[in-house]
Amino acid sequence: MSAVQFANLKCTFELHQQEYEEAALRVLRSGWYVLGDELKNFEAEFASYVGVKECVGVGCGQDALILAIRALDIGRGDEVIVAGNTYIATVLGITENGATPVLVDCNDYYEIDENLIERAITKNTKAVLITNLYGQCANLPTIKNICEHNNLLLVEDCAQSHGAVFGSQKGGSVGDISCFSFYPTKPLGAFGDAGAIVTDDPVLADKVRMLRNYGSKKKYYNESTGINSRLDELQAALLRVGLSHLEESNSMRIAIAQRYLLGINNPSIELPKTRPGANHVYHIFAIRSKCRDALQKHLESCGVQTQIHYPIPPHKAPCYEGETFTKVSLPLTEKFAAEQLSLPIYSGMSEEEIETVISAVNSFEG
Ligand SMILES: *Cc1c(COP(=O)(O)O)cnc(C)c1O
Repeated sequence: MSAVQFANLKCTFELHQQEYEEAALRVLRSGWYVLGDELKNFEAEFASYVGVKECVGVGCGQDALILAIRALDIGRGDEVIVAGNTYIATVLGITENGATPVLVDCNDYYEIDENLIERAITKNTKAVLITNLYGQCANLPTIKNICEHNNLLLVEDCAQSHGAVFGSQKGGSVGDISCFSFYPTKPLGAFGDAGAIVTDDPVLADKVRMLRNYGSKKKYYNESTGINSRLDELQAALLRVGLSHLEESNSMRIAIAQRYLLGINNPSIELPKTRPGANHVYHIFAIRSKCRDALQKHLESCGVQTQIHYPIPPHKAPCYEGETFTKVSLPLTEKFAAEQLSLPIYSGMSEEEIETVISAVNSFEG
């Protein structure tokens, strides 16, 4: 039996190889590699896809988060309410600006529990930073309401949710500013590091545009202290190809997820749930088992590669040891960190591979 890889970027590339190669050659032959027309076009196309006015390309998703918080003037002494069940980059976006994260537990959808947000608000709270984890939006309308009532800014971390919708709203279009990663494995992936922020506020967009380019609007006139975090022309051109096929690749993963949801009938396995009114683009197909480590070993022995997202939640990360904000009780986040396992899911997966995964999960005796 041949191994089923967790992800296969080569396979995903080969689905549209010719278009990617043409885009790359176009940039190589253009003689223009940073801050040019490819980026301008990608930014316009991505803003239109999300349904917002502005998009600013940056170096990666982590920089998008750091610069978004900075552009909102959030720093030392300010608190940001944030999902405890997330990738650590979300929390780093806050702490890298000297602000204080206030971690909130998740619900059964693995998203921030909207019912716990209001009691976490203090006089120092400036914003709520949510993650649309695994490919599904958090409860955007309810959370937006809470923010408006309490005069708080809303930031969305959409690094895993390109194309996800909640009702009629696309993830990334509800927050005051939203952050995307285009790391190669993400639903929209570059061929290296890349990221972006999107917003309806042109002033905020201009601020990020300045911050990503040393803090200067005009070359050599530095108004603020920024960093160098630009999405280069080569990645922008490749992302334009990926964006034109995003709906199609999301549909391919959704179809694989449907097969898993119907085919996996092992009673010891908890399958992912989708909120009524929302869709799920399955960046990650997250299952749970009380015997997660044994399940992972069993799948490995059946030739199925898996990963854990994430074994250590941010408040337990060694880098934050001793920080006051980590002294919180997040029972579900901790439970899920011990039980979660991600199954292979990527566009271009073969019928045989899908079947292998299903029967391997079903044959686990946990
Ligand atoms: C991938 C990811 C990031 C970071 O993006 P990079 O482009 O790798 O810097 C941030 N938040 C979440 C939820 C992610 O999954």
